[in-house]
Amino acid sequence: MTRAFNFCAGPAALPTAVLAEAQEQLLDWNGRGVSVMEMSHRSPEFVSIATEAEQDLRDLLSISDDYSVLFVQGGASAQFASIPLNLSALGERVDYVNTGTWSSKAIAEASRYADVNIVASAEPNQFTTLPDQASWRCSDNAAYLHYTPNETINGLEFDWVPDVDAPLVADMSSTILSRPVDVSQFGVIYAGAQKNIGPAGLAIVIINKELLGRARQDIPTCMNYKVVAQSNSMYNTPPTLAWYFSGLVFKWIKAQGGLVAMEAINRRKADKLYKAIDTSDFYNNPVALNSRSWMNVPFTLADDRLNSLFVSQADENGLLNLAGHRSVGGMRASIYNAVPEAAVDALVEFMSVFERENG
Ligand code: PMP
Repeated sequence: MTRAFNFCAGPAALPTAVLAEAQEQLLDWNGRGVSVMEMSHRSPEFVSIATEAEQDLRDLLSISDDYSVLFVQGGASAQFASIPLNLSALGERVDYVNTGTWSSKAIAEASRYADVNIVASAEPNQFTTLPDQASWRCSDNAAYLHYTPNETINGLEFDWVPDVDAPLVADMSSTILSRPVDVSQFGVIYAGAQKNIGPAGLAIVIINKELLGRARQDIPTCMNYKVVAQSNSMYNTPPTLAWYFSGLVFKWIKAQGGLVAMEAINRRKADKLYKAIDTSDFYNNPVALNSRSWMNVPFTLADDRLNSLFVSQADENGLLNLAGHRSVGGMRASIYNAVPEAAVDALVEFMSVFERENG
């Protein structure tokens, strides 16, 4: 069996060991004679899978009992609506930072439900540098402040946590579990699973319990964080297979040495790739050095006409999904936890050969 090196932004690569384990258990989970997909979510078997996954995530991120961990559906995009519906009253002021495509989408959705104040925007510099916090214009009484620690498309990442009075809400879809974070600095952390957690179909919400119970009367019940928390994410049928897979991924991360170990590996991978880009006149990444994403590395070629040749030759060499997002073009290598360092080494080598032949 050969596995390609997969640089997809999401749904992204999963650890081979996790896929192999799931394959082994596919027809017969733990001698029960059924697969995880065929179990009641309320059965002791699935409840044990679910509880263990939550505990492993709590261990990895050192999540205290002050926080609920919710396993929900609808992807991160559903959270763009869930956040204002759960945390603000109709027409109440909410603060947002705009650092790229995904924060823009979060802002557009929240604007349907709340009075959005954009405290700062990186748009004037094409999302290549972060607005300094000293320049932010925060509201006096915002229900929360929302930001996107890592912009998956623009490759712009905060290397600091904002210090604000309002509860801090972070869309960590493409950076969660890439390194340790201090959860106690956040009111809410949410993330779609399909990058660093597991397969698509699941999103995780980590919420300070003090923020539960603020939902609007007319919120859909299955989106109400308090209802979801009180039912251990089983108000209705959860995405059981994705939850199970995520649990396997959490165990895999623990076996790698946890988030401190992941941080060291991820830093090395990103450093190697940015170094290859920066030491060449052929490749370019426009993002300010201290705000470059560790997970999503966009880059352009000196001549755009070579883009499709780059992508197709990379593909032939077992380096998949390197085309940039359709909205920005160029290339993008997503190097999440499950993308091994050998994949980055192979990409750097390929880039060097491609430059020699076409530069
Ligand atoms: N936020 C970020 C930072 C993302 O990268 C994405 C997906 N690429 C989303 C939100 C939307 O996620 P979903 O497709 O799960 O709704």
